[in-house]
Parts: sequence; C-alpha cells; structure tokens
Amino acid sequence: MDIDFVIVGSGGGGSTIAWLLANAGLKVVLLEQGRDISREELPVDGPAFNARVHDEYRFRLRTPDPKRRLRGDYNTYRQNSDQIAEPFGEMGGWTSSVLGGATATWGTWAFRALPVDFTLRTHFDHHGLGKSLKQWGYAVENWPIGYQELAPYYDVAEALYAVSGNRDDEWASITKSDWFKQLGMSRSDWQKPKLPYPLPHYPRTPVGEVIFQGMSAAKMNPCQLPTAIVNPRSGPYGTRAKLAEVLAHWNATSKAGFWDKPSDQLWSDRVRQACNMCGFCGEYLCWGKLGPKSGGNVSTIEEIREIADVRCHAKAFEILSDKKHSKATGVRYLDLSKPDAPKPQTVHANNVIVSCGAVQSARLLLLSKLGNLEQIGRNATFHLFGMEAQAVFPSRFAGLLRQEFGHTGNVTSFSHYFVPDEEKKHWYKGGVLTSTANKNPLEKAVQGFRKAPKLGEELLSGLEKHARTVKLRITGDARKPS
Ligand SMILES: Cc1cc2nc3c(=O)[nH]c(=O)nc-3n(C[C@H](O)[C@H](O)[C@H](O)COP(=O)(O)OP(=O)(O)OC[C@H]3O[C@@H](n4cnc5c(N)ncnc54)[C@H](O)[C@@H]3O)c2cc1C
Ligand code: SF4
Repeated sequence: MDIDFVIVGSGGGGSTIAWLLANAGLKVVLLEQGRDISREELPVDGPAFNARVHDEYRFRLRTPDPKRRLRGDYNTYRQNSDQIAEPFGEMGGWTSSVLGGATATWGTWAFRALPVDFTLRTHFDHHGLGKSLKQWGYAVENWPIGYQELAPYYDVAEALYAVSGNRDDEWASITKSDWFKQLGMSRSDWQKPKLPYPLPHYPRTPVGEVIFQGMSAAKMNPCQLPTAIVNPRSGPYGTRAKLAEVLAHWNATSKAGFWDKPSDQLWSDRVRQACNMCGFCGEYLCWGKLGPKSGGNVSTIEEIREIADVRCHAKAFEILSDKKHSKATGVRYLDLSKPDAPKPQTVHANNVIVSCGAVQSARLLLLSKLGNLEQIGRNATFHLFGMEAQAVFPSRFAGLLRQEFGHTGNVTSFSHYFVPDEEKKHWYKGGVLTSTANKNPLEKAVQGFRKAPKLGEELLSGLEKHARTVKLRITGDARKPS
C-alpha cells in the first residue's frame, strides 16, 4: 500500500493534521511513542473509585504518569556541554507521552493569538523597541501569515475542541485595556470574531468569582477563561452540528475544496459527555475516557480510527530521506509494545510530518541529521509565567476557596497583554493574567518535602494554608531581561 503521510507524534499538532489528511482521503500512518490510555481498563478498587483521577499521589507522581516514558526516561537533556545530561524530569519536556500528547493533560485554556501577535516585529519597530530587543538577544519576527487568514481555522478548531467562552466580554477586556488604546490598536483592523464560541462560558467557580471581583475592583476588565471542555450547562456535545455551523459561515473565497465537504462526511454522529465540574483536569487527565475534556485523542483521533493507521508504542528514532537529503521518504521506529523486546520497524511514505512537540521534534531531526543542524531547536523557548502574586485568605475561606486542581470556571484579563515601563514610554509584551491551578495536596506535600522537609504540625498547617491560597500570574512572553 502506498502511504501518503507518516506523522510522528499524536499531540495537538499531529492529531489534528492526521484528522484532516485522513478525511481528505489520504493514507495516513500516525506513530505515537506512548500508549493509548483511552483503551485501557482502569484499575478500579471499588465501584465509586476511579484510580485514574482519584488516586492523586499514584496518578501524578507514580504510575501511570503520562509525562514519563512508558519504560524509563529514554531522552536526556542538558543546557550546555559542561553539564551531565539527565533524563527529562517532570517539567523537562512539558508534554505527555500518551496518545493525544500534551492535550491529554493540558489545562484547556483555549486562547486565540491576537492580530498583533502575528506582526510583532513590525509593531516593535514602529514603537521604537525593535533595536533594543535585538541588542538584548530577542529574535522577534513577523509570521508569514496574518490573523485574518487563520481566523476560519480558529473557528474550526474551536468547534472540534468544544470551546466554552464569551466573545463579548473577551472583546471588552481587550479593547478597554490601556495598551490597546495607547498603542493605537483601535485604529487597526481588529474585529471581534463573528461567530460566538461553540459553547457558552463555563460556570464560574468560587475561585473564579473571587478573582473576578478582585480584577473588576482593580479595573482590569475580567472575562471568562475560554476553556476547551464540554460545558456542564450545555449537556452532551455534538461536534458535527457545530462544525456544520462553522462551515456554513466560512467565506467561500478563501476556502479550499476540503472545507466544502458536508460536516457528516467529516464527523460521525458521536456526542461527547458534558463535564461534571470535578475540577481535576489541569495537568491531570479527565475521568471521562472519551468525554468532556477536549484533546487530540478525544476530539480528533477517535474520529479516524477506522480510516487511518494509528500505531502506539511506536518510538521514531530516524527520519529516512533520499540521497541528497532533499526529501523525507519514511520513518524508522522502535515498536515498544513488548518493552523488553523492542523491534525496529520502518514505514515508507511519500511525505513525513514531524510533530513530536518542540523539544522532541528538534531531537528527532538532529538524530536524523536533517535540516539546518546549527539552528534546529536553538531558539525553542517555553512561555513564561511572570509577575506572580499570591494571597493567603483568612481561615474563614477554608473549604470555600479550595482552588480547583484545574483551571475550570476561571477568569482571565487582557489588561497586561502589553506592560509599560515606569514612564509608560515603552510597552513590553506581557500576556494574559489568570489565576493558576493549585497542585493537589499530596503533590504539594511531596514537592514541599523535597525542597525543605516539613513534617507533622508544620506540614499540616502548610497544607491548610495551601487550601486557601490563590495565585495569579501572567502567562505570556518575556519582558526586558534583568
Ligand atoms: C500540563 C500541560 C498543560 C498545558 N496547558 C495548556 C493550556 O491550558 N492551553 C494551551 O493552549 N496549551 C497548553 N499546553 C500546551 C499544549 O498542550 C501544547 O502546546 C500542544 O499540545 C503541543 O502540540 P504538539 O503536537 O506540538 O506536541 P505534543 O502535544 O507535546 O505532542 C507530541 C507527541 O509526540 C510524541 N512523541 C515525541 N517524540 C516521539 C517519537 N520520537 N516517536 C513517536 N512519538 C513521539 C509524544 O509522546 C506526544 O504524544 C499544556 C501542556 C502541558 C504539558
Ligand atoms: S472538571 Fe472533571 S469532568 Fe470536567 S473536564 Fe475536568 S476532569 Fe473532566
């Protein structure tokens, strides 16, 4: 059989492109190094006990830990050649090695990039910061495409990922911000997305309410966090119908033929369960095997099981290419379904897509000696968490303010998308301001113990405070380096 595409990695990128290509009638092989937890029977210790989400300690820190490799940590990491390379720790790869990749454990914040994000170089040059940023070592470039070209695809992605949110409040949060007015954004061609989110905003939880009131008092124009979860208020979610709405709305002039297909050719009649607001999902899995929390596996791979060849336990170690290294011709991988007896396998294909996440894609290309070896992976960075503020509320808030383990029901603000210097002369890139998920108590206890051992009363009082602690921070780009 002639394979059109072999795709390495089944996360946010790989799962989506696999869905699209398979639905376009192409022969697709999807390789994933991790396992398919949606098909595994869970260890159940009692009728009401689901070890996947309820055994916090074992789930998060022991097995099954999707952030770790199936068998040990094959990949190692070091910041420079003087260091000894160590296995990726919990934070190292910031992914999950399971079918669906990081979208199995992601926090489901589902922001679009704003129009200015596509033209940051032009923006900073215009506002007199371009030279300084260069001197400070930043590589700020414009995207080759603009927001308007991408907008219809955002609509599709939001339908596939069942995003809950409120466009009006979000638009108000953006346009009422100081930076929006001061930087002349109101004169540019920004427009509120025409379609509403596929689902109304997720119900606000007590933590969300506290943050909302605080932000409102500080004139930060909060809005509900766009969240890729089937909203508990809306009941089961039928992707097909939402996709049909998006396709009907899409301006025909810019549409490739694929998007003329009726939605029942692109999606089955499968419906997804609504969320039960257990609050567990940020950095954890959802209790529903194929349910409320959107991700590559639940949202797209499930739809192509019959028409694409999805191979788990398949760890790619080399991209094959023709003699001139001008065209990739296939992938070599280790079949790890029997971890004690890994078997090398080869898939030949007309096209190869590498979608292993930022770090591991670079690793696979470097291992295969393909591309510009001086540059690959060099400027890969993780987004920053900045300007963190933390408040411990009085004891009367204990219980009420238990901060969700996830980010569900949370609010956000665009007030710090650009942050001014002291004289308000220059505005640096900031990000969205949102309260962060608390670690679960056991994880918190173990982490604290690792850093500075606490036991007995000290540990208990630390955990009691933890249960009424709220943190707020910017998730975004870097400010001027210090
Ligand atoms: C805990 C967590 C929370 C997050 N929260 C958010 C959020 O709230 N909002 C947001 O927008 N983003 C969030 N992200 C980021 C988001 O999930 C990622 O940006 C996105 O999933 C990246 O997609 P990707 O396809 O590039 O890689 P990934 O989703 O990381 O997928 C890469 C896949 O490739 C596989 N793979 C790697 N190497 C190989 C190999 N050699 N052979 C075979 N398979 C391989 C991996 O096992 C993995 O399944 C979060 C990420 C994490 C980990
Ligand atoms: S809150 Fe619970 S049910 Fe809802 S998506 Fe998160 S883990 Fe799943």
